[in-house]
Amino acid sequence: MDKLSVLRQYFGHSAFRPGQETLVDAILAGRDAMGIMPTGGGKSLCYQVPALLLPGMTLVISPLISLMQDQVTALEAAGVAAAVLNSSQTLEASREVWSAVRRGKCRLLYVAPERLENQRFLELMESSPISLVAVDEAHCVSQWGQDFRPSYLKIARFVSALPRRPVVAAFTATATARVREDVAEQLALLNPVRVVTGFDRPNLFFDVQRPQRKLPALLALLNERRGRSGIVYCATRSAVEEVCETLNANGFPAARYHAGLEDAERREGQDDFQYDRKTIMVATNAFGMGIDKSNVSFVIHYNMPKNLESYYQEAGRAGRDGEAADCILLYASRDVSTAKLLLSGEGDPDPLELERLQVMVDYCKSTKCLRGRILDYFGQPHPDRCGNCGACTGLFTEADVTVHAQMILSCIKRVRDHLGYYVGASLITQVLRGGRSQRVLDLGLDRLSTYGLMREEPRERLRSCLECLEAKGYVCTESEHSTLRPTARAGQVLFHGERVTMLTRVEQETAPPSRYCPTREADPPDSGLLAALKAERTRLARRDNVPPYIIFSNAVLADMAARAPATMEDFLDVSGVGRVKAQRYGETFLAVIAGYMASKE
Ligand code: ADP
Ligand code: ZN
Repeated sequence: MDKLSVLRQYFGHSAFRPGQETLVDAILAGRDAMGIMPTGGGKSLCYQVPALLLPGMTLVISPLISLMQDQVTALEAAGVAAAVLNSSQTLEASREVWSAVRRGKCRLLYVAPERLENQRFLELMESSPISLVAVDEAHCVSQWGQDFRPSYLKIARFVSALPRRPVVAAFTATATARVREDVAEQLALLNPVRVVTGFDRPNLFFDVQRPQRKLPALLALLNERRGRSGIVYCATRSAVEEVCETLNANGFPAARYHAGLEDAERREGQDDFQYDRKTIMVATNAFGMGIDKSNVSFVIHYNMPKNLESYYQEAGRAGRDGEAADCILLYASRDVSTAKLLLSGEGDPDPLELERLQVMVDYCKSTKCLRGRILDYFGQPHPDRCGNCGACTGLFTEADVTVHAQMILSCIKRVRDHLGYYVGASLITQVLRGGRSQRVLDLGLDRLSTYGLMREEPRERLRSCLECLEAKGYVCTESEHSTLRPTARAGQVLFHGERVTMLTRVEQETAPPSRYCPTREADPPDSGLLAALKAERTRLARRDNVPPYIIFSNAVLADMAARAPATMEDFLDVSGVGRVKAQRYGETFLAVIAGYMASKE
């Protein structure tokens, strides 16, 4: 069999995606490989296809039990001999796996990195031919990354202890160049073939909102998305509790997840979500690395995360099935202090972390394309406007801020007259807002006529006004001491009646749903046939006790409904239907289609 037949027969896809083929070829040719692809980019196929073609077994190292279990369930459903060894298994189950491995009956074996330190396991591996070691979520090996996991550092030693060195392939969605270098080094990859595919996820719609009150705003967003599956991320455990309780009280089936819950309860919540028994998961960032659920249709951040990398990773859990999905962040300025508090933990926050936090804050305040901001961060070129984010499609108004501008400019002048030198933006802001810091009092700035003139103005808005004045050339920042000076143009505003306008995003407490996802308007509602197929999927999922998307994803069912195949041959043409699944489920779905067609005649 060749790689394309494997792709078709087992996974039901007709072609490789960009990047996948290069990695598959490299591995089949015996080269080490490193694949950097966004979540949902299709990393798993890059080692699953070779696993079915290489002579020996493929060992997959993965950080989370739930992730492994899910992948194995999906592989088994596709007719691939895959197994997982984990600590929560019964003795009987793990004996079965050991025996399958010994008899060479296991193509892919999933384990957590901790197992590599187990002597008996090492002996088993030494006596079974291993062709490939695939390291999933490989950024866990790097201390520069988010989710450093010390036992990942043992992988290199484990590989070198094997009687014959297998090919080693590493996969991650985390992007920064530093982490990438570190991964290659810590895993001791030998001149790996590297593939970095684009980071853009065109099907995700990005938005930042600043509601006055977050809970009602969240309820409104969820109301527009009833019946869809989604995650609500909160910064703290107490926020998770509060939000989850409110959602349930308002008739939204929500589960919760945070590090303060008992294992069993976490597991239950996760399963309820995974199996679509509860459509909403309210969680801290402890939830998600293992989440392979493909039909998550929105990720709402109730609080701002601590950096853009975490944000993109968490938001990226939406839309893995390729369907339009929303990533919405509810921002409030107090999120910044919460984030700082969480960052500092015991001591002072790391300056590097503060820098990363600032990038996140800038994202929240952006009036420019949000997708563009993210891609900038990952160093990927992009057009000015993506057309599918809150900034590109949002409503902006042009507000007249002439009076504000006059207050700010005259305050800068007054302070200069009083002190004999210019000062920076933060002191000017303090004076205008009537701040009582030691510096203000020591310098006697509380006695100026402009002191407290903009007391009522939120700090954010004052900041935006200042930024706007600078952008329009009424003030400039002197580079050496970062002091703020008026330019010649300032006189036009102060003395000659020139008007100043500023672009601000219109915030709506309850925005019309169509704004969030332009493509969704065009979506036809589930047609009769699609609804019937989904019902059949639900029935089979209950019967076999697997999550519905393991049977067929929404995208597969949509293609099936569009083609309405009448024969098994046609059924195999549906995108995402492989031979085993066709055998397993073909007849029942064909019967549903035939029944539906007959009822139409
Ligand atoms: P990742 O591990 O990179 O997050 P997955 O391996 O889970 O992504 O793949 C995400 C989705 O993309 C899955 O639903 C998978 O079936 C689909 N997919 C992967 N490769 C292809 C392909 N070549 N053609 C069509 N769909 C694909
Ligand atoms: Zn955009």
